[in-house]
Amino acid sequence: MLNLKNKLIYIFIFGSLLTVPAKAAGTVTEKLSGTASKTIDIAAEQKRIQNMFNGFLTTIGKSPKNYSIEVVESKDINAFATLGRRIIVNTELIKILDSESGLALVLAHELGHLERKHLIKSLISQNTSALIKHYVFKDNRIVSAISYAGGLHYSRETEKDADMFGIDLVNKLYCNVPGKLEFFEKMSKLENAGKLQEYFSTHPLSSSRLDYLSAEIKAKGCLL
Ligand SMILES: [Zn+2]
Repeated sequence: MLNLKNKLIYIFIFGSLLTVPAKAAGTVTEKLSGTASKTIDIAAEQKRIQNMFNGFLTTIGKSPKNYSIEVVESKDINAFATLGRRIIVNTELIKILDSESGLALVLAHELGHLERKHLIKSLISQNTSALIKHYVFKDNRIVSAISYAGGLHYSRETEKDADMFGIDLVNKLYCNVPGKLEFFEKMSKLENAGKLQEYFSTHPLSSSRLDYLSAEIKAKGCLL
């Protein structure tokens, strides 16, 4: 017999398997100038990104051995945090960004989701009714209910929390490196051109996002 704690762990792991990254149209990358034919060396990128990530962890006083970051070949422009203190970075995201500080902000934002326990909190809040049915009403149809985790969305407040965590870290490590907002500027352009739709659905964009991030960079006397 599994105890409650172990059951919860299995439920969360199952939920996380269904938490797929947002889908992006393959043509979106081609809309961003000069990115369609760019090729990258995945092993070299894995090494570069691991080094960046180790720098983040050291800065916040955490041990890199308790975390992992992995570059995965995918045409979806995405990076996401998942259970087990793990971050996945798709190759297409790396291809569209020219500045290291721009990539750093996306990765630091994802680390923010891990450090602020956003994933676990979202899984708990989105699966609460399923858990009640299972434990109170002995309803074993929990598997279908848990599939709601497949549509995991962070709230605007949660996204801002991860943004603020990310920009704080990037200001510390990349203060004099321009290009911090490259990702958000590119996404905002696509959004304004009506090319985003469901794209990056776990990371809702808004004009205020660029505003508060630039304000934070300027407040620290750093380069945009
Ligand atoms: Zn996010």
